Amino acid sequence: MNHALPYRVSIERDADGLQLAVRTLFEESLRRHRLDELTDRISAKEAERIRADEPLREISPGYYTRAGYLLELANTLELGISFPPDCFTQADIAGMVAVKRARLEFEREHPPCPRCGERQDNPHQTKCHACSQKLRGGRS
Ligand SMILES: [Zn+2]
Repeated sequence: MNHALPYRVSIERDADGLQLAVRTLFEESLRRHRLDELTDRISAKEAERIRADEPLREISPGYYTRAGYLLELANTLELGISFPPDCFTQADIAGMVAVKRARLEFEREHPPCPRCGERQDNPHQTKCHACSQKLRGGRS
């Protein structure tokens, strides 16, 4: 291991760390979405309290910056916009694999309601929190 590598480069190569950071961004986005739904029904003070209860990020900020970049890259590619393959670094490709893994993990943990599409808090819920559709609750 070359300890002279800049910090940024070691983040780019830490696939597990990036997967965790991407997953955290997904979870934060789901919580923001839930809070937006609630804001009409709760006081500003209550909303503030919920925001203050937001779990702390577990790893250094550089991971989330890199995760944001990778998500943008993955989203751009999903739109069908093509790039010459040589414009991607090895780290970009490893990073997009981390994005894909994080997305699969998130989708497994927060399956969408078959009726309204709303993501659930966990795969064991028996009723959609948004439309009350009966769910399988993780049974297959
Ligand atoms: Zn639903």
